[in-house]
Amino acid sequence: MKFIVDLTMGKLVKWLRIAGYDTVFYNSANPDKLIEIASKEGRILLTRNSNFIKNKKKILKENGIKYLLLTDDRVENQLKEVAADFKLNLRDNFFTLCINCNKPLTNMPKEDVAGKVPEFVYQNYNEFVQCTNCKKIFWGGTHRERMEKIIKTIIPLSYLS
Ligand SMILES: [Zn+2]
Repeated sequence: MKFIVDLTMGKLVKWLRIAGYDTVFYNSANPDKLIEIASKEGRILLTRNSNFIKNKKKILKENGIKYLLLTDDRVENQLKEVAADFKLNLRDNFFTLCINCNKPLTNMPKEDVAGKVPEFVYQNYNEFVQCTNCKKIFWGGTHRERMEKIIKTIIPLSYLS
């Protein structure tokens, strides 16, 4: 399941990526191009723009594009709504995609990390992952633990298993 999020919900893009869902951010106001990408790449369209849905309902249907109109402006609630609607599994692929570029993360052996992260991080953590694209290194203490905690508290357990 892949998503495209329009510019009404920039934060949701990162949250979906953290949960392991391939998500692109459509940072433009051109609705036709948005529909074109969603159709071509088979992405579910997420938006808070009710006028857009109203005006494009027919085209979305004709192109077989699934979409969800969200109303809440808090990212926690948006994620919750998307998870409920599409029965997302937020746990199994947790932290497998780069937050910044939507590309896969790969495990990095501890010895390869030496000198590339702060010394206290190297001393205190044993698991590291690296983005295959931007080469950024992530570890338990960065976004991972914090986001995992947030996701667990906001999403009812039924969605996680
Ligand atoms: Zn990256």
